[in-house]
Amino acid sequence: MKKFITLCAAALLSIAAFAQQPKYETYFTPDRLRIDLTFAGDASYQKIYLDGLVKECAWSGSKTNLIDTFNYGEYRLEVQTLQGEAIYSKGFNTLFQEWRTTADAVTTPQAFCSSYTIPYPKEEVVLKVYERVKATGVYSEIFSVGINPADKLISHEVANSWKVSSLMQNGDPATKVDLCFIAEGYTAQEMEKFRADALRFTEYLFTMAPYNRHKEDFNIWLVESVSEESGTDIPHEDVWKKTVANSNFYTFRSDRYLTAQNQKTICQIATAAPYDALYVIVNNEKYGGGGIYNFYGLSASNCKWAEEVFVHEFGHSFAGLGDEYYDSSTSYEEFYNIKIEPWEPNLTTLVNFESKWKDMLPSGTSVPTPPLSDPKDNVSMGVFEGGGYMAKGIYRPVMDCRMKTNQAQGFCPVCQRAIEKMIGYYCK
Ligand SMILES: [Zn+2]
Repeated sequence: MKKFITLCAAALLSIAAFAQQPKYETYFTPDRLRIDLTFAGDASYQKIYLDGLVKECAWSGSKTNLIDTFNYGEYRLEVQTLQGEAIYSKGFNTLFQEWRTTADAVTTPQAFCSSYTIPYPKEEVVLKVYERVKATGVYSEIFSVGINPADKLISHEVANSWKVSSLMQNGDPATKVDLCFIAEGYTAQEMEKFRADALRFTEYLFTMAPYNRHKEDFNIWLVESVSEESGTDIPHEDVWKKTVANSNFYTFRSDRYLTAQNQKTICQIATAAPYDALYVIVNNEKYGGGGIYNFYGLSASNCKWAEEVFVHEFGHSFAGLGDEYYDSSTSYEEFYNIKIEPWEPNLTTLVNFESKWKDMLPSGTSVPTPPLSDPKDNVSMGVFEGGGYMAKGIYRPVMDCRMKTNQAQGFCPVCQRAIEKMIGYYCK
């Protein structure tokens, strides 16, 4: 009994500690610090190196929610005072981590560059990066570096002079979701098309629940970054274009996987823009895209289903949603460890279903739930087997959802709730 009480007290203490957010003005200036990191390794080994520090524009993220409470992501970065107090944190995924699950990574070590922004610290801090260990799902420290904000070597250089414009303004970036669209593969003559493409994506986004209930919670920004040539690289068709973010199809040798290997380049393009979420619009007609949590979303402007692909990929990159499909050919094998609960809010292995959508199920729902007669049903909730690229051992909330197919009516109730929680986090 005593052990139980002690455990309860410990749990309450940890919840209290979790809920307490540091005071922004105590620790940070109004500016933004970009931290460039190189992730290197192969399928069995990874290491992180510091690549550079850059003082950018004003911090546009929340000044209230500084400690990430979602516990999403394959990685977590944490800024600590020299006394070890956490004053900023954020979970994220990387393209590098996806690559580590491919066949190429077994034989060939590679390095991927990516960047992360934090509020500019007033005093010396320690940056730590944790990886989620696949066997346990628990974070483990893999990188630690001291940052002295007064260091003369922190770059103040302005990386570019791309025009940053506003497509939709609803208020102070600190209390809004700032979605920033980046132009990729648009020449100077095509910038009007970029603005029209971004407007089309924006209008579509706000027709969809739950975004249609939260339009006033968003600011939309555009970075009018100019490419020398129009389009993007399609390596397996021997198409190569000189573009500002150097995006390409055929990522991990998959026909439709459109990404930009060097995410740092995209953050450099956005150096003067306010953002909570980066989305790269690639001026192309070929079907494809990718979305990586707190990293970037990226997709083609004019392919079939372009708007649907955009909201799907943005579901990954902004809200940490997992893929609810399992029947398509992907480059990943055994992506999820079914012995642990995945962190994505819309997938479960039933190891810890209480942490997912159990509270949303109608009473009497059988778990798992047999398939319903209507394969396009996106409302009737259950626990349906198949999701996360795996047909067995992993479950999704509805028969169909925008995180499963482009033809779905929209997001399922579980995805909608997760998106609304994320919007709320940035708006405090
Ligand atoms: Zn869903």
